Order: sequence, then structure tokens, then C-alpha cells
Amino acid sequence: MTERLYYQDSYLTEFRARVVDASPDRQRVYLDRTAFYPTSGGQPFDTGELGGLKVVEVTDEGDRIAHVLADALPETEVAGRIDRERRFDHMQQHTGQHLLSAVLLELFHTPTVSFHLGAEACTIDVAGALEPDQLREAERRANQTIFENRPVTISFEDSSGDLGLRKPTEREGLVRIVSIENLDRSACGGTHVGATGEIGPILIRKLDRIRGNLRIEFLCGGRSIARARADFDALSKIARVFSSPLDETPALVDAQREKLQESERTRRRLSTELAQASGRALYGETAPGPDGIRRVLRHLEASLSEESRAEAQSFTAAGPAIFVAFAENPPAILLAASSNSGVNCGEVLKRLLGPAGGRGGGNVTLAQGSLPSKAALEGLAESLSRELNFPV
Ligand SMILES: [Zn+2]
Repeated sequence: MTERLYYQDSYLTEFRARVVDASPDRQRVYLDRTAFYPTSGGQPFDTGELGGLKVVEVTDEGDRIAHVLADALPETEVAGRIDRERRFDHMQQHTGQHLLSAVLLELFHTPTVSFHLGAEACTIDVAGALEPDQLREAERRANQTIFENRPVTISFEDSSGDLGLRKPTEREGLVRIVSIENLDRSACGGTHVGATGEIGPILIRKLDRIRGNLRIEFLCGGRSIARARADFDALSKIARVFSSPLDETPALVDAQREKLQESERTRRRLSTELAQASGRALYGETAPGPDGIRRVLRHLEASLSEESRAEAQSFTAAGPAIFVAFAENPPAILLAASSNSGVNCGEVLKRLLGPAGGRGGGNVTLAQGSLPSKAALEGLAESLSRELNFPV
């Protein structure tokens, strides 16, 4: 049985202990007492050193806590040192979670069903639907409770009585209870700060619907400050690009986006018009074959575009004509023919694409298909040229 020093004092980061058991390679050790928190209840394990060796994992085995070390530990009497910064960050996030869950229950009767303390952000899943303005209200109330600097205390109470917990516990016997004065009582084995002021600011961020629950991402203390700093830096960069005051940037970005969409529409219209003019010019420049049909074959290194289609349709609209374009990346084919050319584009392409492993189709005057490879495209180009009497 390992005595858990963090149960009584979350701020204890240096301690001495005796090794009572170890794996044969002495990299997994058990102590008579430890301040290292093992992964449990949504909170990750502490890092630090034991006998000067790096602690790479701490796991809860029920009665005992296992410390996994980077190397073999020869000593039997050891000094432990916990990474204070990581521990305190976990204390801030975890106590912030108790507070936020309690506030959400009090304000909107939404119970918390799970908690995850991640390396970047924390999340709680709550049962029920909440609107964004309700979450802003919860954030405001939680921060108000932080400013009041209410004591956070630990007690051990017998489960046979009515413990008045936020969430009932299944534990029997002595239960460890973490209380926020006049707000919350929770059964919990985690590490917490001594008063709500130490949580620092709580910031609610992303919301996601997960399996009927609402997942709320939030940050506490140092993480809120770091995030606010990063947000400010990112927003400042955007503001500098637009030479605008920070608070006017969202409206400006929105206006710029609309302008861009408008120019994109104009660009498309103009490039289609250009392609159509080019198709008509091409018709004039192309000599008809002995059968009176004008034929054009295009090889495109890039993909088929709206412009390719516009050029092809304009070319074949002018008189008896066939237009074929092969695109290499990705492998694709476009076939256009005037209605008086005697060619049914959709039918021809469908018949040739199948054996080449391609897919596609179209109507009498315009058809398009994609092919699995460049080799398949070349094979199809050959049979199509033969069938449509293109000069070889
Ligand atoms: Zn807790």
C-alpha cells in the first residue's frame, strides 16, 4: 500500500521515501509513500525525478502506485522531486474543472459526465444543450467565484452518511472530498489549489456536439494567459496586414472576403468569354478535313478546366467540328462535337472509358471522363484518335 502524500498536500513537491518493491530491472519501483500523482480521473501523471532518475510514467494499481523510471534505480532510500510547474498547471486546470462543472449545474442543471485534462486544453462533456450566451454566463460566474478567492478544502468522510456531493460516488468507506466553499462538494483523488483565486482566469473556448453531449473546451490560469497572448499576436498580425485597428479587423476581413468573391466571379466570367473567343478564332484558323469536319486535339499538362469546356463548346458551335482535350494531371479527357458531325460524344466516351478503367459520360455534344493513370490515358487517346479520324 502506497501512502499518497498528495492526498493531504498538493503543494508538496519534494519528499523522501523507501523503495518497498521493484521490477527485476529496477525501472518500475514501488515506494512506501509518494507525492507523485498517477494518471487517473482525467488528470495525467506527474513528471520529475526519483533518486536522480527521470520519472517517465506513474500508474495507479489500486493499492500501490508504480513509478516507471528512465533507468535502473539502485538505491532503497530515495529523494523524490516533482516537476512543480506541471503539477501546478494540473492543479489549476483540475480545480477550474470542479468550479466550472459546479457553476453549469447550478445555473443550467447540466451535469458533467466526463473530464479530460490534455496537454494543450481541457474538456468537459456535459449532458444537455447549452447556447453560447449561456456559456458566456457560466464563464462570467466562474470567474466571479475565482475573484472571491473561496477556500478549497480536502476532507475524508464516511460514505454511509449523506455526503451532499455534486455527483454521487460508488466508493465505500472513507471518501476523499474536495469542497469549494458554499458551491461544490466532489469525491475526487486529484490535486487541487487551496483557494479559487489560484485557479486564475477561466476561458471557455470551443464547443462540440459529441454523441448527444456537449463538449466544452476550457483553459485555466497560466494556459488562459498564454492563449490570450497567442490570440492577440495572431490578431495583431492580421491587423497589420490590413493596417487596421485590432477591433475593426473582423469586419474588414469580412468585407475583403466579399470583394474577393466578387472579383473571382468577374475573373471567371472574363476567362470564359476569352475561352469562347479563342474557340471561335480556332475554328476560323482550322482547315476542314476531306469530310468537311474541323478537328482540334489539345494536350494539357494541368487539369481540365471550365475554360477548356468553354473553348471546346465554342469551337464546335461554329460548324461541323470535333474537339478533343487530354489533361495529364489528373488524367482526364474532354470530347466535344457539333451536332452535325455524326459523333455522339457521350456514347463514344462511355464505350472507350470502360475498357481503359476510366469513369465518366456526357451528352451528344459534350462528354468528359477521368482515367486511373497516364498509360490508360495514352491508350484511350490512341483509340479515340483512330475512331474519330484524327490525322496520326
Ligand atoms: Zn478533482
